[in-house]
Amino acid sequence: MDTHFQDKRVIVTGAGKGIGRNLSITLAKLGAKVIAISRTAEDLDELKLEEPSIEIHTQDICDWNKTRALVEDIGLVDMLVNNAGVDMHKPYLECKEEDFDRIFSTNVKAAFNISQAVVKGMVENEKSGAIVNVSSIAAISAIHSLGIYSCSKAALDMMTKSMALEFGPHKIRVNSVSPTSVMTKMGKAFYDSIPGLADAILKRVPIGRFPEEDEVVNAILFLLSDKAAMINGILMPVDGGHIIQFL
Ligand code: NAP
Repeated sequence: MDTHFQDKRVIVTGAGKGIGRNLSITLAKLGAKVIAISRTAEDLDELKLEEPSIEIHTQDICDWNKTRALVEDIGLVDMLVNNAGVDMHKPYLECKEEDFDRIFSTNVKAAFNISQAVVKGMVENEKSGAIVNVSSIAAISAIHSLGIYSCSKAALDMMTKSMALEFGPHKIRVNSVSPTSVMTKMGKAFYDSIPGLADAILKRVPIGRFPEEDEVVNAILFLLSDKAAMINGILMPVDGGHIIQFL
C-alpha cells in the first residue's frame, strides 16, 4: 500500500495520542508529508522527536476561527483524517448543556469546519482527495451513559454521507471508520470506569478480542488509498463483528 502515500500531504487531527499518533507515524513512514494537529504541545513535541518529518500544530480545534485560519494557512492537501474526538460517560439525565456543547464541538463541528476548509482548497485547485472521519460503533448501537457521544458520532456519520454525496463529483471521497473499543487512553478510561464491562463486551465480539490501534490505522489507510477508489460514503466497522449479532 505504501506507493499510495509517497509525498501526499495529509492532515491528521488528534495526532497527539492513541489512534491519531499511530496513524501519523505510520503515514510518515510510508512517505507521506503528515501535518499533525492536536491540543497538547508536549504530545506533539514527542511525536516530532520520534518522526521529525511530521509538521506539528498545537491547536484546540474547538476554536472555529483559529482552526479555520490554521487550515487555510496549511494550504492544499491530498487527504484529511478527522480523528480528534472526546467522549464522556454520564447518564442522560445528568448531562448538562456544556457537556453537549463540548462533545459536539469537537466530534462534529470541528470536523465540519476543517473539512470545509480542506475541500474548498481541493475544489478551487481541481484536485482529487480523500477524507476519513473516525467514528465509532457507538453511532450504531446505543451504550448506557454514552448518549451524547453516540449522538455526536451518528451526526459525524451523516456528515460522511452528505460530504460523499456533494464532493463525489469533484473526485473527493469521504468515508467513516467505526471502531469498537481500542485500548488507547480513551478506551482504557472507559473500561476502568465500569468494572467487568470489558469482559461483558468481549463476549459479544465474535473474534473474541478488541482491535489493536494498528488494525484501525490499517482500515483508515485503505480508505485513504487508491485501493478504495470506488468506495465513497461508507461506514466501515473495525469491530471483529461486534455489531452484527442480536444476542
Ligand atoms: P485518545 O487516545 O483520547 O486521543 C485523542 C486525541 O485527540 C488526543 O491527542 C487529544 O488531545 C486530541 N483531541 C481531543 N480533543 C481535541 C481538540 N478539541 N482539539 C485538538 N485535539 C483534540 O483517543 P483515541 O482512542 O485515539 O480516539 C481517536 C478517535 O477514535 C476518536 O474520534 C474516538 O472517538 C474514536 N474512537 C475511539 C475508540 C476507543 O475505544 N479508543 C473507539 C471508537 C472510536 P488531548 O489529549 O491533548 O486532549
